[in-house]
Parts: sequence; C-alpha cells; structure tokens
Amino acid sequence: MKKHNFSAGPSILPQEVLLKASGAIVDYNNSGLSLIEISHRSKDFVEIMENARALALELLGLEGKGYTALFLQGGASTQFIMTALNLLENKAGYINTGAWSGKAIKEAKKIGEIIDVASSADANFNYIPKGFEIPSDLDYLHYTSNNTIFGTQFKDIPQTDVPLVCDMSSDIFSTTLDFSKFAIIYAGAQKNMGPAGTTLVVVKDEILGKVSRDIPSILDYQLHIKAGSMYNTPPVFPIYTSMLTLEWLKGLAGIAGIQEENEKKATLMYSEIDLNPLFKGFAAKEDRSTMNATFNLTDESLKDTFDTMLKEAGISGVNGHRSVGGYRASMYNALPLDSVKALVEVMNELEAKA
Ligand code: PMP
Repeated sequence: MKKHNFSAGPSILPQEVLLKASGAIVDYNNSGLSLIEISHRSKDFVEIMENARALALELLGLEGKGYTALFLQGGASTQFIMTALNLLENKAGYINTGAWSGKAIKEAKKIGEIIDVASSADANFNYIPKGFEIPSDLDYLHYTSNNTIFGTQFKDIPQTDVPLVCDMSSDIFSTTLDFSKFAIIYAGAQKNMGPAGTTLVVVKDEILGKVSRDIPSILDYQLHIKAGSMYNTPPVFPIYTSMLTLEWLKGLAGIAGIQEENEKKATLMYSEIDLNPLFKGFAAKEDRSTMNATFNLTDESLKDTFDTMLKEAGISGVNGHRSVGGYRASMYNALPLDSVKALVEVMNELEAKA
C-alpha cells in the first residue's frame, strides 16, 4: 500500500514522475540505453538539460528577463559559500530565521563581513522578524524563505533596493511571488522538484563579475553559465526527474495552480491543529509555513497511542526535527489533499479516544 508521505526531504514526488523516471533508468525513450549510461553531452541529455533550465525560468516568470537557470551539485549547502564567493566584496546582510540561515551565515563569515540584519533566535525561531532596518550599503541581503525545521515562512519579500539572495529550498515553486525581485534564488531539488543530487540556482546575470577575488572554478557561477550548466558532468538522473516534475507542474497551471492546492492543504491542517485541544502549533500563526506544519501534543502521555494510530493509517514522515520536537507535517507540492485529510482524521480519532 502506498503511504501518506509527509517526509520533510527528500520527500514525495508525483507518482507519474516516479513511473516515468524509473522507466528511463532501464531504457530511455526506446533508445536501447539507460538514461544513466549515456553521455551527458549526447543530444538526448542536452535536450533534457535545456528543457529543465527553460522550464524553471518559465514557471518562475523569468524567461527573457536576464536570468540563467543552473542545475548544480553540492546541495543547497554549497550555495551558502558559493553565493558569498560570487557576490561578497564589502559586506552582506543576513536574516537569521533558523538552522539553515545560521549555516548560511557561518559559511559567509569565512568570506567577508556579515551583518545580522534580523533574527528570531530569541524565541527558538518560531516567528519571522518584522519591521527591521536593512542598510542600503550591503552587497546583498540573504534570507531563507521557508524554514523547513521550524515551520515558518516569509509571506512578503523584504523591501529593499539591495540585491536579494534567497534560499528557497523548501518552498520553491509552491507560491507565486515576483521572482524578478531576486538576484539569486537557490533550492536543493529534494523537496518540490526531484531527488537529492542537484540544486537549482537562478541567477540574474548582471549581478555577477563584480568581486575582486579569484573564485575557484567549480564555485564560479559565470563559468557554469558559460558552460551551459555542464562545466563538469551534471547529475543526469536528478536533473531528468526535476524536469519531469517541472513538466507536471506546468500541466497543473504552474505555480498559481499548485498554490491553490497548497493553501487548501495548509488551511485544513492548521484548522485541525487550532481546533483540536490535544495539539498546539509551534510557529506564530501569521508566519506559518504552507509547506511544513510544526505542532506538538498538549499531553505527551498520548504520544505512543498517537504514533501507533499514525502507523496504522499509513502515515509516514511526521516526526518533528530534533531541535523542535513534536510533529512536522510536510505538505510539499506533490502531497495530495487526501493525505492531509487522512492525517486530520487520525488527529480527530485521537481526540475522540482521549
Ligand atoms: N536550506 C533549507 C531551507 C533546507 O531545508 C535544507 C535541507 N533540508 C538545506 C538548505 C540544505 O540542503 P542540502 O542538504 O541540499 O545541502
């Protein structure tokens, strides 16, 4: 039986994408060869790469607007250092909203001067800071749009003329935004896009080439752009699977279409958390993530009963991160509304039983 997969990442992908991708592992397009045993320079793979890059820009509404999409390796974690190496000359500002922002800050500090523009560390990152000043002399401002671990999400893009760099690993392609406000967007594939192994980086071309350092080649965006995202052998399978997911998303009316579904799922989930006295949400209400709902039991002695009921209902991956505890229901693009209904039903049954 297929489980209800609430895993935080790597996470659920559309079933039709999995079926197509697994077929390509054995025989790509009736070519008599597997996708993973052909040259990345072959016509077949170059087509996949170009299609994936074009689809990413199209879905984000950035086609023809001076942006390039790259599919790189090293995870979003490599982008923590790569963004700083490519953009940081004098100083940069960071908004600290959780573990991943903290890691981005730690890496950037190895490259140059970093200013903490705002932080929610004072309340274990259960909210998104507001009303903060953004200095106008920064090389860039970095923030994490969705905090996977804590379940908070920026609802608005920070207002500034400073170039914006955003880690969208856990909410890319889930919500419509004016993506042309960003200088760099990056996201590991393994939430809303594909398997782990590739990271989408969308770069505004004009932002590059302004730092004085000699950037190591593999970490230089300009070299990757020049090489058509094939500076070295790209991770062909994660890129192919990401392309299939982007095609699936396009078929669902793109980000606007999936946003409607995501809002239905989040509304259902959070109304149960708020109405059921056995549960308490972790994140501040106005900052709740549509992707990762974090919550706790109000009576810890019910944990074993609840966990057994979840297991019996085929609900998988709802354990909270060790730094928050409790539960986390990740509701990425490919998670059906029916899975949220199944989880809410178990929460209701627990209330009836307790
Ligand atoms: N940023 C965010 C918001 C994340 O959720 C994660 C991974 N869960 C990362 C960065 C790190 O990504 P990776 O493991 O691909 O380096």
